Amino acid sequence: MKNIFDSHAHYDDAAFDEDRETILNGLQDKGVCNVINVGANIESSKKSVSFSLKYPFIFAAVGVHPTEIKDLPKDYPDIILDLLKNEKTVAIGEVGLDYHYDFSPRDVQKKIFEEQLKLAVEHNVPVIIHDREAHMDTMDLLKKYKPRGVVHCFSGSLEMALEVIKLGMYIGLGGAVTFKNAKNPVLVAEKVPIDRILLETDAPYMTPVPYRGKRCDSSLIKYTAQKIAEVRNIGVDVLLEKTKQNAIDLFLPGSESPQTIRVCSLDGI
Ligand SMILES: [Zn+2]
Repeated sequence: MKNIFDSHAHYDDAAFDEDRETILNGLQDKGVCNVINVGANIESSKKSVSFSLKYPFIFAAVGVHPTEIKDLPKDYPDIILDLLKNEKTVAIGEVGLDYHYDFSPRDVQKKIFEEQLKLAVEHNVPVIIHDREAHMDTMDLLKKYKPRGVVHCFSGSLEMALEVIKLGMYIGLGGAVTFKNAKNPVLVAEKVPIDRILLETDAPYMTPVPYRGKRCDSSLIKYTAQKIAEVRNIGVDVLLEKTKQNAIDLFLPGSESPQTIRVCSLDGI
């Protein structure tokens, strides 16, 4: 397996505290060419940037997740802008709305989401969107600001996926497509145009079957990819190659990035 581009992982998570170096150093031998480490708050955004500086194959996304809004410093947009100066910061994320946990009032979630959407549009940076049980409000704001980007861990209907695509955005698919009762993600994985799909893990979460319940890392994308390739009736190699190219188109446009080219030529397992 090769050409695994994990467009969404959280290696700053405490779940990796014991063996982070070992895991990260082993990924490329397992066919992983690139990873975007996605921030959820200021601290993890800074860690994402530091990983991107340490590991050639890792890129960073910086942003404030809707469950992390409490105690947010007032000058947080300035901090995000500062972290965007790092040349390996490729997105603002993850940002969005979470009406499942509802840790902050919905109007506050919307305000912080809008502020970060504005930043992304003003600075022409893609966004990585988190939408949990907030499909209507998420779509309203995406239509209003029309950012470039991806709706990660997509959980909406096929109709919504097609609306997202109409806006020029991408659909992020991860371990959920392998879950037994995942009807929507499987239908979406089957029907949306292949040039709009990004693969992701959301590691350490959303571990695909047959490892569901265990800690996830980017190499396990192969199970997600196998499932999507199966429902689309294409080879898994073709899927991995195309979705890698999609991620490059979105996050590293026009890139002759030596990191990308060099590590993607490895065969891995
Ligand atoms: Zn995430």
